[in-house]
Amino acid sequence: MVDYQEILNSIYAKLQKRVDKGKVASYIPELANVPKEKFGIYLNRIKGENYCVGDWEEPFSIQSISKVLSFALAFSKLKNQVFRRLDVEPSGNPFNHLSLLEMENGIPRNPFINSGAIVIADMLLSMLDDPKNDFLAFVQGITNDPTIQFNKTVAASEAETGYGNYAAANLLKSFGNLENDVDRVLDFYFHQCSIEMNCKQLSNAFYLFANRGKCMQHTTHLSINQVKRINAIMLTCGFYDEAGEFAFEVGLPGKSGVGGGIVALLPNEFVLSCWSPGLNEKGNSYLGMLALEEFTTQTNLSIF
Ligand code: GLN
Repeated sequence: MVDYQEILNSIYAKLQKRVDKGKVASYIPELANVPKEKFGIYLNRIKGENYCVGDWEEPFSIQSISKVLSFALAFSKLKNQVFRRLDVEPSGNPFNHLSLLEMENGIPRNPFINSGAIVIADMLLSMLDDPKNDFLAFVQGITNDPTIQFNKTVAASEAETGYGNYAAANLLKSFGNLENDVDRVLDFYFHQCSIEMNCKQLSNAFYLFANRGKCMQHTTHLSINQVKRINAIMLTCGFYDEAGEFAFEVGLPGKSGVGGGIVALLPNEFVLSCWSPGLNEKGNSYLGMLALEEFTTQTNLSIF
């Protein structure tokens, strides 16, 4: 029998000692205040047991991890129509890159880079009666946790300095790929990114992607086919220009955010969340990437 707790403990003990923990994101001023020493891991096995270590109970800003959840909601409602306005190819570029968007006539490469997530935010804005609250209710529902909230201070902080996202949204608008007003779309997008979760909540939120579309309460939110597609996009696009490296080193579908969270999963087996706010030069959690690599190496559990 694999001793998962022992594996998590050893990964934590080894990595926490590292002097180099990466750099905390500072382009969103509020995120720069989070201490670099924080490090937590939570493993949710689909069969039922859970294991945790470190700061797994402390909430952090999920940032781009929210792109999977907003895409899941849009995909569940609009089905394959979502692909009329964006593609599913890895961009090979940073999450906030703009020149490809211009070259490709305002069609984002995939829903997990900023421009793609802004198009999804626009779709949700057109479709939901009370967009922010309805999206939050969806996230609370799949996680079975009504305490999950936006962090309005983080959303406001990003709205003040999010020039790249204003540029992306304006470019999308100029190509006719944004229905709503730029400010309204970005207000929704900055709020979705500001959602806070701890490692346990994040693992629970992604449970349905490892469990054929059924969340922890066995409610079906997505078809098996939709989950297959979402996991495929996570594998190929979840880590921007480090997606190849993540598939190579870790071998799982997953998603990162500049708040230092990473969630990865093995269908029918587990969801594993890590949080450490220091980032590598590609904007992914430095210790989180190493922790996931250690985990799949030690357990030999990966999709390959
Ligand atoms: N809110 C951030 C942004 O739009 C999310 C980026 C990320 O987590 N990679 O820049």
